[in-house]
Amino acid sequence: MNKETLKKNLREIPDFPKPGILFYDVTTLFKNPECLQGMIDELYEIYKDKGITKVVGIESRGFILGGALAARLGAGFVMARKPGKLPAETIEETYDKEYGTDTIQIHKDAIGKDDVVLLHDDLLATGGTMAATYRLVERCGAKQAFVNFVIELKGLDGRKAFPENVEVTTLLQL
Ligand code: AMP
Repeated sequence: MNKETLKKNLREIPDFPKPGILFYDVTTLFKNPECLQGMIDELYEIYKDKGITKVVGIESRGFILGGALAARLGAGFVMARKPGKLPAETIEETYDKEYGTDTIQIHKDAIGKDDVVLLHDDLLATGGTMAATYRLVERCGAKQAFVNFVIELKGLDGRKAFPENVEVTTLLQL
């Protein structure tokens, strides 16, 4: 996927959700057919030979490409959600965010010891959200886990939130 095309189609909203935050709005990438298809194609090329059995998408913007990619890879899809949303027994991790503290959950039986997992979200800022989700996947005993984001905010050094051996890919670095 051409990075300039992605950049050109990504909407930036200053001071959202609060003053001082520059919000990168991926809805403008999702609504553009060329960008949507291009991102799915690129992700498929990166992960097609990794033996991925489950894709974990983080609520809510991680559900879009995460679900599409899972279908393309022939893998299952797992939702990582905010508390109170998942109906069956869950496990959870709490973490510090760019703005506040938060908790993320998955169903306790969502991932097993034979799973090779790809964790996906729209944007890497501090890495706190994804690192907490990674810990959930580790607690399930997954065989291996990969991490991907559409956008990486390089200035925040979010990659440091993961153990060094974790393979992290991003489609657009800003
Ligand atoms: P973090 O845990 O700090 O890496 O934050 C990542 C999560 O917060 C992702 O789910 C993003 O969707 C959201 N997020 C954080 N900062 C931004 C930003 N500047 N623009 C858009 N989304 C953001």
